[in-house]
Amino acid sequence: MKPSLNDLGKLAKDKHIENKKYFDKLKKKTPKNLDYVMQDLHNAEFKKTDCLKCANCCKTTGPLFTLADIERVSKYLKQKPQQFIEQNLRIDEDKDYVLQSVPCTFLDNENACMIYDVRPKACREFPHTDRKKFNQITDLTLKNISICPAAYNIVEEMKRKMPM
Ligand code: SF4
Ligand code: SF4
Repeated sequence: MKPSLNDLGKLAKDKHIENKKYFDKLKKKTPKNLDYVMQDLHNAEFKKTDCLKCANCCKTTGPLFTLADIERVSKYLKQKPQQFIEQNLRIDEDKDYVLQSVPCTFLDNENACMIYDVRPKACREFPHTDRKKFNQITDLTLKNISICPAAYNIVEEMKRKMPM
């Protein structure tokens, strides 16, 4: 069962040390089939996930925008890239373009993305649980568990499937 958004922060906090230890072991002793297992877990979880009932990623954290994202989205909005940047983006401490504020400006009242077809790559790939070389993004996953109920479940299932 998926954790409710109300409970997710606490659940993720309670599991943080256990998950961190698990990921540390995973990095030291990475199973050969890790990415295949993750792909299956990711697909199974998102088959039963309705992101339109959640949108917590769009409400609480934004994507980073690459220059290709900025070009593509601004073209779609019939804006100059610079105009798009000035209206929507800021540069963060890692020198990446990110949203000026959350919830994301492009999220509508029904939790749909108004720029879905051209949305940033980071939005398309979130929560990155099917990423190749998953063992390299475990720190990011630790953060995403507290934002995304699907990522939380995927990691719980992962620990069951691949005990360390
Ligand atoms: S937080 Fe996870 S489950 Fe919720 S909308 Fe985003 S990707 Fe979907
Ligand atoms: S661009 Fe779309 S998918 Fe990405 S955070 Fe905004 S509303 Fe969500």
